Amino acid sequence: MNVQFYSLGAAEEVTGSKHVLEIEGKSYLIDCGAFQGSRSEADKKNRNFGIAVDRIESAVLTHGHFDHCGLLPLLTKNGYKGNIYATPATRDIASLIMMDSANIQARDAKYLHGQAQKKGGEFNWTPLYTERDAIQATNQTIGVSYNRPINIGDGVELEFYDAGHILGSAFASITIKKGGEELNILATGDLGRKGKPIIRDPSIPKKAPDYIILESTYGDRLHDSTNDAIKKLGDIARRTVEKKGKILIPSFAIERTQELVYYFHLLVDDGTIPEVPIYVDSPMATNATTIFQVHPECYSEEIKKAFIQHHKNPFGFNSLHFTTSVQESKDLNDHAGPLIIISADGMCEAGRIQHHLIHNIQDPNTTIMTVGYMAENTLGRRIRNREKEVKIHGDWFKVNAKVEEINAFSAHADYKEILEWLNALDTSRLKGILLVHGEKKPQSFLKKFLEDNGYPNVEIVKYDKTYNIG
Ligand SMILES: [Zn+2]
Repeated sequence: MNVQFYSLGAAEEVTGSKHVLEIEGKSYLIDCGAFQGSRSEADKKNRNFGIAVDRIESAVLTHGHFDHCGLLPLLTKNGYKGNIYATPATRDIASLIMMDSANIQARDAKYLHGQAQKKGGEFNWTPLYTERDAIQATNQTIGVSYNRPINIGDGVELEFYDAGHILGSAFASITIKKGGEELNILATGDLGRKGKPIIRDPSIPKKAPDYIILESTYGDRLHDSTNDAIKKLGDIARRTVEKKGKILIPSFAIERTQELVYYFHLLVDDGTIPEVPIYVDSPMATNATTIFQVHPECYSEEIKKAFIQHHKNPFGFNSLHFTTSVQESKDLNDHAGPLIIISADGMCEAGRIQHHLIHNIQDPNTTIMTVGYMAENTLGRRIRNREKEVKIHGDWFKVNAKVEEINAFSAHADYKEILEWLNALDTSRLKGILLVHGEKKPQSFLKKFLEDNGYPNVEIVKYDKTYNIG
């Protein structure tokens, strides 16, 4: 068999997931994510697509996060006419994320243009794509449910398995059949964790893979326990309520926000925290919550029970408000504390969270609670690193706010969870593991850890390197 693998994104870094399987001379794209980080660098990388679209036979999308789906509109804009395969929930979420990005890009272009004019500078940045391109990408996306194998090319079969990462997330199990031979490649997309509150645990695909394309975001970390994290969440909320401060939580609009809402629901329900106003200030998070409500096929048993047996809505309660208009969002600036604001983007690189930071980051009564991954060179990482001053929208702000970190809500497996998942797989045919989606340090740690635990052929995937796996 003639099968090669290479990466166009998320090799020795975490954003921009874009992997290619070359099968008998045809290209199959796994994920088509955007790079995130410093604006100019990310922009340069995003514009340089790296593959001629007419060579792509099919595209597969593992889940709807921006760093996995964010460049699909650019793919279709560049002339890709084929199918994009994703689970139905992923199709919905990706549509939302791509539209949101198109919107943000249009808004940013306008804002930055205005700023440049004010300062008399030159400005010629144009968005990567528009809403029209995002709609086209959604139109080319075919919903394929979990455990429903489908042919995506000549002798190439795709089956999605629950990845336990976010709603709709899937492992892509790709089986290539040729002349009585079979080769199975299991691409994890992002590998989730057991015990997340809304979705099911990562599944164990029944097919024995020959190669695993494995993510390694937290390859050198162990997460805190979720119970400790909920307690910490309660403590931080209580303390901030006492000093009538605001809590700003930069959060991914998908999954993390709904989880936080669910945890706050539990904390209010059992009286751990008083009924503080909680605002989900992200139109995308509000819309995403609606998507959560229409995909019960992705729910864990716990949530199914809450909905079906108790007729309770775990995504809504009295003190919880979903803002939609810009005015409502701005009104929060004048809203006295105590107040909790959950807003996107999760790495503070865009969106309404930046405006909330501008208004509150210099106030010592504010708590900024980071609850998710912060990539290098992002504003979120700088805040989490407790830099004394940060630049937002071109101006410098002193970080007088208290910065807290909870890492137990991660949607990515830590290294022990990765090993546990691998050990549960049928590895009788396994020839190698290709590590992607991780920074250098976690990747080398994970490579050694897996080698020490009985997985001898672990490769850290490099750009410009093609791996023969057929
Ligand atoms: Zn993800």
